[in-house]
Amino acid sequence: MRILVVEDEIKMAKVIASALKREGHAIDTSYSGAEGLAMAESEPYDLIVLDRMLPEVEGVEIVKKLRESNISTPVILLTALGTVKDKTAGLDSGADDYLVKPFSIDELISRVRALLRRPPIAQPNILTVGDLSLDTTQKTIIRKNKQISLTSKEYSLLEYLMLHAGRTISKETLIKHVWDFDSDILPNNVEAHIKQLRKKVDKPFSKPLIKTVRGFGYKVES
Ligand code: CA
Repeated sequence: MRILVVEDEIKMAKVIASALKREGHAIDTSYSGAEGLAMAESEPYDLIVLDRMLPEVEGVEIVKKLRESNISTPVILLTALGTVKDKTAGLDSGADDYLVKPFSIDELISRVRALLRRPPIAQPNILTVGDLSLDTTQKTIIRKNKQISLTSKEYSLLEYLMLHAGRTISKETLIKHVWDFDSDILPNNVEAHIKQLRKKVDKPFSKPLIKTVRGFGYKVES
């Protein structure tokens, strides 16, 4: 999934970004409220980790502005303020969750997982298409009782396609959700990754599940 981290404490931002990268997500980081807001408005993030106390535009203001623009990306607010009143104000602004500093990275990761599983796409822990299943918590893939090991990009591609099983997903959409801002990824590179993914997920089995929709993109379907 593609996640935006907005946090002005550079050290903290880096710790969060690298922990989320280890989880296989594509991360963009911003150290300012104004820039973070602009990025959140222009890119299709799957989740935003947002510090509350930011220069220029505060975290709570950013959430309000996003919700006013009908951007419903889940937001986790990070804050040094821990009173009930602060918490209520944070959630009232439209944030989905609230974490008080100092927090453990494991706690953040588990909240991120929970939010990424939430509706609008009601996501179960285990996604299944035909005889292929993907466990979003363990990051494991099993087909016909055999475990398949993937690189983190291959995993992210497959997870995104399986979350939208039966729907055609364009290469541009895959680029936006699976890669971060800084990666100079081209549609050709997506093809190369899909090719590798097919070698592992489809080749050893009789029925291919990753389908090319010529001129549009890809879909996973049994
Ligand atoms: Ca701050």
